[in-house]
Amino acid sequence: MKNYDRIHTRKPKGIDERKAFIIGGGIAGLAAAAFLIEDGHMPAQNITVYEQLKEIGGSMDACGNAKLGYVSRGERELEPYMECLWYLFGMVPSLEEPGRTVLDETRECNKILPIHAKTRLLENNGQKRDISTLALTKQDMEDMAKMTITPESAIENVTIEQWFKPSYFRSNLWYYWSSMLAFQKWHSLIEMKRYTVRFMHHLDGIDFLKGILRTKYNQYDSMILPLIKWLKKKVSILFQAPRSLI
Ligand SMILES: Cc1cc2nc3c(=O)[nH]c(=O)nc-3n(C[C@H](O)[C@H](O)[C@H](O)COP(=O)(O)OP(=O)(O)OC[C@H]3O[C@@H](n4cnc5c(N)ncnc54)[C@H](O)[C@@H]3O)c2cc1C
Repeated sequence: MKNYDRIHTRKPKGIDERKAFIIGGGIAGLAAAAFLIEDGHMPAQNITVYEQLKEIGGSMDACGNAKLGYVSRGERELEPYMECLWYLFGMVPSLEEPGRTVLDETRECNKILPIHAKTRLLENNGQKRDISTLALTKQDMEDMAKMTITPESAIENVTIEQWFKPSYFRSNLWYYWSSMLAFQKWHSLIEMKRYTVRFMHHLDGIDFLKGILRTKYNQYDSMILPLIKWLKKKVSILFQAPRSLI
């Protein structure tokens, strides 16, 4: 979603009579409902989101309390160029401050307390690892550069391990990459290429997690809850799948 695309869309003919049934109440389903209303001009009451679980939010879940403890399957690393995400949350009102959006509060929180990890890698029973360089060999760098310019059609069925030399898997970059993005050596090289191209601009500062954004609370409380509250005023959210789709 580039600035060039942030237009006031025209109302499509017949949209008032159309209905949308969205399967899944993860961020994708909820975003689809929001964009259908805002950009597609579909009346919100014509939209139904079906969720098979008792909770909405899909992978962006979190639950618990101070007494029993909290569970969150993962924390998703966010960054400033997730254009569609920030376009969406630039519309969603903050739950805490009237007149402000989730984007406003997220940006402010990151301005006040930017991420700057002081210790990224530990080894030998808790010793700080030397992270003064990415610890790549010349060959590793060449392999990385070659990966980024090789068309996907030429690396189908190639794993990360088949492409890189063993030295790459001892580099600091591999430890950063594999711990942040959950890569395994046997994963697809195409996936690795896509992530590398997409997040290349974070290589400068990866040793301190520079540029990675956080939300004020966990992502369920900071993003999913305000989004549901905003949508629920009008959109129906049903906690079951339609029988014909099970
Ligand atoms: C541990 C972890 C770490 C992650 N880290 C990052 C990260 O760093 N950065 C990043 O950008 N992303 C990250 N992600 C990915 C990101 O969280 C997901 O891509 C995103 O949340 C997926 O959203 P979704 O709506 O497409 O799918 P989901 O969140 O999977 O939602 C799908 C929903 O559909 C429901 N559903 C499925 N079938 C049916 C049916 N038949 N009827 C009714 N309901 C149905 C499911 O119950 C679920 O609630 C991470 C994910 C995990 C789990």
